[in-house]
Amino acid sequence: MTTRQIVIDQGLDFLQRVGTEQICKVCIMNGGSCCSGCVHLADGRGCTLRNTSCTAWLCGFLGFLLYETGLYQEWTEFWRQVPGRNYRMDNTPDIFPISKALPKRNLQFLSHELAEDLNALSLLHPQKRYILDLREQIDNCLDELFYWKSPEKQTTIKNKLRLLSKDFSRFNQALASYRKDTESSVNS
Ligand code: SF4
Ligand code: SF4
Repeated sequence: MTTRQIVIDQGLDFLQRVGTEQICKVCIMNGGSCCSGCVHLADGRGCTLRNTSCTAWLCGFLGFLLYETGLYQEWTEFWRQVPGRNYRMDNTPDIFPISKALPKRNLQFLSHELAEDLNALSLLHPQKRYILDLREQIDNCLDELFYWKSPEKQTTIKNKLRLLSKDFSRFNQALASYRKDTESSVNS
């Protein structure tokens, strides 16, 4: 058994280790805060009603980071166990059963590189919605990737995702070394 508060804390701890805050900073600087207009957002205090729904939710950038590092599935499977998620609130019971835990991974260096790439892109394309449109396109791409099962469709969508992320040069380089290190530690 677990509690509503424990899964929220575990989710936040996972995101903190993964380093998502760095990506959020760039997104927010570009006017993309996903908390924008929420009644639970208080000036200087941030979120006043932290809930399971918002904790579990992934935008295109965070989804992309978890997808590329092989953690997307683990994240969604973890949250699938949590009932009562809703839009900007939850009806999650105080206590409920759970069997799967979240892994603990420090990916701060990868998030840092992605944030740097996004920052550089936002300076290169100062038009207001550039970064936000990119985030939405990546998000749609991930949705399609998990919806379509045929190998042909999967290849097309993966190529589309590669194209959308082609300018993430620092991130792509760091990801290649991360994958190499992960592979060699599995094989040793
Ligand atoms: S939309 Fe994504 S990157 Fe932007 S602030 Fe929200 S979680 Fe962070
Ligand atoms: S409830 Fe969700 S959208 Fe609203 S401030 Fe909190 S985290 Fe942001």
